[in-house]
Amino acid sequence: MIDFAALAVPGVQALRPYEPGKPVETLERELGIRDAVKLASNENPLGPSPRALESLRDVLGNLHLYPDGNGFALKQALAERHGVATPQIILGNGSNEILELMARTWLAPGRNAVFSQHAFAVYPLVVQAVSAEGRAAPALAATADQPFGHDLAAMAARVDADTRVVFVANPNNPTGTWLEAGALEAFVAQLPEETLVVVDEAYAEYVEAPGYPDATQWVERYPNLIVTRTFSKIHGLAGLRLGYSVSSTPVAELLNRVRQPFNVNSLAQVAGLAALADTEHVQKSVRVNREGLRQVGEGLDARGLDYIPSVGNFITFDVRRPPGAVYDALLREGVIVRPVANYGLPTHLRVTIGRAAENARFLLALDRVLAA
Ligand SMILES: *Cc1c(COP(=O)(O)O)cnc(C)c1O
Repeated sequence: MIDFAALAVPGVQALRPYEPGKPVETLERELGIRDAVKLASNENPLGPSPRALESLRDVLGNLHLYPDGNGFALKQALAERHGVATPQIILGNGSNEILELMARTWLAPGRNAVFSQHAFAVYPLVVQAVSAEGRAAPALAATADQPFGHDLAAMAARVDADTRVVFVANPNNPTGTWLEAGALEAFVAQLPEETLVVVDEAYAEYVEAPGYPDATQWVERYPNLIVTRTFSKIHGLAGLRLGYSVSSTPVAELLNRVRQPFNVNSLAQVAGLAALADTEHVQKSVRVNREGLRQVGEGLDARGLDYIPSVGNFITFDVRRPPGAVYDALLREGVIVRPVANYGLPTHLRVTIGRAAENARFLLALDRVLAA
């Protein structure tokens, strides 16, 4: 039998696939239960933007046609939204695709990418898949202002002449920590101009902390800056796979060479355009999340459980033991959360903020599980 693994490119030989949150249907099938609730993938508990759903009806009859490979209408709306020119926008099959395009465009064996410990798991994966070196900088301490958050000085210290990409998540998943405008811009400004810096703003619309920056406003100043956003979180369109980046035009043009010609399907393009205009759904989502963050935070406080203060739509909390048994027991209660041991947080679990009833159900299930 041929050892195909030995024939794969070096990075792929040691690659471990991304582990997504468990789908509700899978859990219900496995345990023979009903009414499970998934609080595992930071999806919007309010569902898709109603205006996005409405817009889809018009496209269904055209599904025999290829999508607009240039995503003209959506790119134009996004450019307007961020005050940039249309060629500065790249659409992706989720923002994860943009992260992958970054790796495929700039990285190769002998080159490296820098990111933080406890940062989004996709960064090391896309780097390793192209057999480049991933450098994880130690994160801030558990006792820091931003516990387990990005240590920008430690990240800068890992950058050398072969560093082509730096990944910064603001806020970061799974910690929910964030970087303030002055500190983040100073970090971007001090990087070599030859080093691309990705600021991943997947949760930007949720953040209400004063001093939280919109890095898309910096791309004119820093041609090596690329900011990613997604429709998967606040817009509630994770199933359609749609994300985008804002960068200088030369950087966007390179990513455009590497992407598949029809990487973003026509449903996603139409729904994205409608969701972008649905400020009511966005505002409601922010409000429900704000209330839910408070509800879950107070619930964890009341149970004496430590958690990382989060500005996203999720909270990572410490169960002070290997969390496998807690995770499994929550599953049996019909509540799906997310283990984060693969993020270097071996005693934590991450819970997505749901609607009030879902949050209450999670806290109640947690009581039963921890009492057992
Ligand atoms: C959820 C998430 C994304 C979004 O991924 P999509 O591919 O757009 O669904 C990107 N970055 C971070 C940090 C995330 O948590």
